Amino acid sequence: MEENNYQICSRCVMDTTYPEITFDEHGVCNHCHQFDEVTTKRWFPNDEGKKKLDTIFNQIKQEGRNKEYDCIIGLSGGVDSSYLALVLKDYGLRPLVVHVDAGWNSELAVHNIEQIVKYCGYDLHTHVMDWQEIKDLQLAYFKSGVANQDAVQDHAFFASLYHYAVQNNIKYVISGGNIATESVAPKSWGHSAMDAINLKAIHKRFGKRKLVSFKTINFFRYYFYYPFIKGMKVIRPLNFMPYHKGEALEVLKDKVGYKEYGRKHGESRFTKFFQDYYLPTKFNIDKRKPHLSSLILSGEISRKEALNELKKPLYDDVELKEDKSYIAKKLGISLDDLEKMIFSPGHHYSEYPNWDRQHKILKTIQSIAGKYLNKNINNYS
Ligand SMILES: [Zn+2]
Repeated sequence: MEENNYQICSRCVMDTTYPEITFDEHGVCNHCHQFDEVTTKRWFPNDEGKKKLDTIFNQIKQEGRNKEYDCIIGLSGGVDSSYLALVLKDYGLRPLVVHVDAGWNSELAVHNIEQIVKYCGYDLHTHVMDWQEIKDLQLAYFKSGVANQDAVQDHAFFASLYHYAVQNNIKYVISGGNIATESVAPKSWGHSAMDAINLKAIHKRFGKRKLVSFKTINFFRYYFYYPFIKGMKVIRPLNFMPYHKGEALEVLKDKVGYKEYGRKHGESRFTKFFQDYYLPTKFNIDKRKPHLSSLILSGEISRKEALNELKKPLYDDVELKEDKSYIAKKLGISLDDLEKMIFSPGHHYSEYPNWDRQHKILKTIQSIAGKYLNKNINNYS
């Protein structure tokens, strides 16, 4: 197609399939510059980080000493959140562990979650979503043709997490989000799953049933009520320690009998299908590129290793066929209908009502207040 203008970053593996990418005179991309100039200032994979984390965790323990739980953590069964659960145990924290089952969990994920909770001695609250509602929402998303098909699962996850936190009077939300594996996040390839205006608009236009048990978090709750009224804070401990995904996996296997997902399915069969088939087919987006680029920047892998990884096919043909049938059947549509939705033209989330205007105002206020108070007051992003 645009082979002539194709360019790949000389340091990471982001390329011109991301339309907003820019390169300097050495062929280094804007994501790499962002990492050096901005991200590393929030990243402490060293002794300084250990000291900071000690202080944070001591405060959490101190504040929570008369409570049943001192913090909350969402467990998906993935490596990041699973490893984080072990870190919290080492530090003697007492988290309430929440798992959200939106209907796509692989058996391996369930096994891994059970093993971790048993090993750490945590209480697990599994929130099973109403499948008929999730199904209706996911079909609405497919029909809308937007790129961020993961919004339904992600929104459900965070809404449940915050709901349990408020219900149990917990202030500290411990997140497995981290710079080491996720620093490169091409903005226009997705859209925040927290945009409830967008989610509701898509559902209103394409959904068929009323959402009764599916709870959304609106803009006000997310940006004002939780952080300022409830005093909730999101802590990302993996940014205060050297975090190496490969090593974390070995620790998990060794200590809790964690089983690796390998190339098959991952934690969620839907996520695999969405990332490795829907996005590349419909939008020419390969999510491995930002992921591998993050690992290059954090020093976990070399660029050469990343390039080799990218040469591998996204899907095995037989597995793809199986997954397509599985997903169509589970969503109650024909294989034909599923294919039609995948091959129809894509749509940008902004073609539907969304929170962009509010978000822009918020960012302006944050930046003015931040300058005035001389500190960064962004809570989430
Ligand atoms: Zn780069």
